[in-house]
Amino acid sequence: MDFAFDARTEELRAKLEAFMAEHVHPAERVAEEQRAALASPWDTPAVVEELKAEARRQGLWNLFFVDQHSLPDEEYGAGLTNLQYAPLAEITGRSPQLAPTALNCAAPDTGNMEVLAQFGDAEQKKRWLEPLLAGEIRSAFAMTEPEVASSDATNIETRIERDGDDYVINGRKWYISGAMNPLCRIFIVMGKTDPDGPDIRRQQSMVLVPRDTPGLTVKRAMQVYGYEDHYHGGHAEVLFEDVRVPVGNLIGEEGGGFGIAQARLGPGRIHHCMRLIGMAERAIELMCRRAVARTAFGRPLAQQGVVQEWIADARVAVEQLRLLVLKTAWLMDTVGNKGAHTEIQAIKIATPRTVVDILDKAVQLHGAGGVSQDFPLAELWAAARTLRLADGPDEVHQRSLARREIKRYV
Ligand SMILES: Cc1cc2nc3c(=O)[nH]c(=O)nc-3n(C[C@H](O)[C@H](O)[C@H](O)COP(=O)(O)OP(=O)(O)OC[C@H]3O[C@@H](n4cnc5c(N)ncnc54)[C@H](O)[C@@H]3O)c2cc1C
Repeated sequence: MDFAFDARTEELRAKLEAFMAEHVHPAERVAEEQRAALASPWDTPAVVEELKAEARRQGLWNLFFVDQHSLPDEEYGAGLTNLQYAPLAEITGRSPQLAPTALNCAAPDTGNMEVLAQFGDAEQKKRWLEPLLAGEIRSAFAMTEPEVASSDATNIETRIERDGDDYVINGRKWYISGAMNPLCRIFIVMGKTDPDGPDIRRQQSMVLVPRDTPGLTVKRAMQVYGYEDHYHGGHAEVLFEDVRVPVGNLIGEEGGGFGIAQARLGPGRIHHCMRLIGMAERAIELMCRRAVARTAFGRPLAQQGVVQEWIADARVAVEQLRLLVLKTAWLMDTVGNKGAHTEIQAIKIATPRTVVDILDKAVQLHGAGGVSQDFPLAELWAAARTLRLADGPDEVHQRSLARREIKRYV
């Protein structure tokens, strides 16, 4: 039995289910075929642009954008709450390569749009936020560095130095999602403007760096368990060598970078968790279909006790996770992201871990097919597994959650 949401959400949910069935799922194979024929695997298959146009036409566009007031034009967002967006994002998780992009709800653009809407000035919004909201360009968020433990953002070594009316940027970043896509026109770069400042959380700033700025080199595509994540625009290593941008490219104020990074991550984390639940639902469906269709040792796999246990445990886990994600979304809507801190940490710990386990069982049930390219399971597993690292490793969230919990008793 499914949750019943409010009328607006139910209407959008029905529309999105139909959009997935009529357009997205049939496009999965088409997109693969088109990509194989592209000059570069990083270009966007034509069918993706067609999906975007259709989604926009149907009003299934920028659904993620909760803070409607900060948008330059009301037409851009659907004006949903986090609680309303949650079941919709879940549906897109069933086809994570295509659906989030089709709806202009894909990371890292969503987080970058939120940063620009919340902290960008009028000119920055005009130049970068508007084309992002229109789905004309893509963007990247460059924080992580190969040389330092970047789960602790105070370690970041990239320098952003003031020189007259410019900032000069030097540093090396990696796993910068989206940067391999030639449509990625803008980087939000985190670096230190005041490396010796007394407050280690005020040493960092964020600047906008257009892709074509001299000194910015997209070096190579980093792999994820051997996958290159073409649909995501890959995960690039990026070099900044004496990259010069005007001081007007600073986002917010000098020293505000750490705070912006914190603000950016709350919604981004819950969006990943919403989609992960959709991925788990797809895994359960594939498990059940395979279990009834395949016979070993004289009976269908569905009649093996161990298989029934996997399916039952997966269902229980998904129901628990969904409730926790919905509670978190509701808290974000009612008491704000800060007030939902513990729950955001909790879903970020619990969801990828559990969904990885469900996908692992689904792979096992499919035998060799499970690790192959003929089923989506191996790629979904790899994607879910990386979310135990991306947006902060499990252990950092556990540390932060535990500290808050313990603090109540000291
Ligand atoms: C697919 C993917 C996409 C990504 N996209 C982006 C992106 O777009 N932009 C970007 O800037 N970054 C991106 N990242 C990078 C990601 O955010 C970092 O990998 C993550 O923050 C961890 O930093 P690190 O790799 O430097 O690991 P480290 O900081 O070196 O940590 C390594 C390990 O140390 C352990 N550890 C760390 N701190 C603690 C602690 N307090 N307690 C216990 N154990 C601890 C954890 O097990 C952790 O996994 C992406 C990563 C992946 C895999």
